Amino acid sequence: MKVHEYQAKEVLERYGVRTQRGIVAETPEEAAEAFRSLGGELAVVKAQIHAGGRGKGGGVKLVTSAEDAARVAEALLGKPLVTPQTGPQGQVVRKVFVAEGLDLAREFYVGIALDRRLGVPVLMASAEGGVEIETIAAERPEALLKQPIHPALGLQPYQARRAAFFLGLRGDAMKKAVAFLTGLSQAYLELDASLAEINPLVLTDDGEVVALDAKIDFDDNALFRHPDVAAMRDETEEDPKEVAASKYGLNYVALDGNIGCMVNGAGLAMATMDAIKLCGEEPANFLDVGGGATEEAITAGFRIILSDRNVRGILVNIFGGIMRCDVIARGVVAAAEAVGIEVPLVVRLEGTNVDEGRRILEESGLDLVAAHSLDEAARLVCEAVRAAQK
Ligand code: GDP
Ligand code: MN
Repeated sequence: MKVHEYQAKEVLERYGVRTQRGIVAETPEEAAEAFRSLGGELAVVKAQIHAGGRGKGGGVKLVTSAEDAARVAEALLGKPLVTPQTGPQGQVVRKVFVAEGLDLAREFYVGIALDRRLGVPVLMASAEGGVEIETIAAERPEALLKQPIHPALGLQPYQARRAAFFLGLRGDAMKKAVAFLTGLSQAYLELDASLAEINPLVLTDDGEVVALDAKIDFDDNALFRHPDVAAMRDETEEDPKEVAASKYGLNYVALDGNIGCMVNGAGLAMATMDAIKLCGEEPANFLDVGGGATEEAITAGFRIILSDRNVRGILVNIFGGIMRCDVIARGVVAAAEAVGIEVPLVVRLEGTNVDEGRRILEESGLDLVAAHSLDEAARLVCEAVRAAQK
């Protein structure tokens, strides 16, 4: 799960990590008021969307008066912001963060991410702040320090000192950086984050070590342990199809192809996607309806698949184990009645209650093609989609 910059900063403050102070605003008036409450001569108005690269996209602006803050907020709010990370359609800005303007002496990069090869979180630090870390890692790996973090013991003081030293910080700034990194690591581990990135971390003119930007991603599977983190979810930033699917406990991931898939079991779903690719087409989604899906969930699944305008055909592939074929069949029929399925539909049912399932489909009078194996099902749906395109 992603959160906004202002939320990530709130979380980090709780762990003693210094962040740029600021106030969230949803209207130009609130932005002006925020500027006044901050009380400084300089502030920065920052668009809050679940994507980075806002500076490059014009979503981060320095302002020197309340009127200025209102004007910038007015220009950002309610409109899509296009950044190198949003795609060409951009993401609509619903909130801005009005933060105290800081005089930056130096900018750094620090981040913690799960290193899948080492199997532990790794602290990364680079003196080249503001630059994308992927670029540094690829072009000048020596400019990036990596320190594996023991998942139970946390970031060790010597590791934090080594990182601060690597950034060129000495004396008081070094001590502040050590406290900063220790807090960052604690937040990452305790809250089950999968990424915590501070780009840039800055050393201000008056010697403070401050997070100017903050990005934290949380592990969805651990959210049940952190209700306060889960409460920060902003569904308006997510793919509406994925939000709807999660309400019904469906594992749905939107993809770019044109064949919608409804499958039970993650492994079978992957195999189904492979089979579609093997036949020369691309899947429009991954969907694992799981073992306990109800008829309503199946109907919802169909609605979600059909709400994707790229879908030109649907492949239902159910191997009934815990999931009974008759439940799927009823879901298919209910969905067809409720939403209308106007694209070719190929169904392969096998396993528990398969005869009942097939009977329900036959008696429904639905226009569908029954397949008896995965290979056949994939071939039939791909052929039907290609025939419809001609
Ligand atoms: P991103 O582009 O989405 O990563 O947004 P950031 O929060 O990183 O902001 C982009 C850039 O704006 C930063 O790298 C800074 O250079 C600049 N910036 C943000 N806040 C301030 C500030 O208070 N003072 C100054 N001088 N620059 C700032
Ligand atoms: Mn940034």
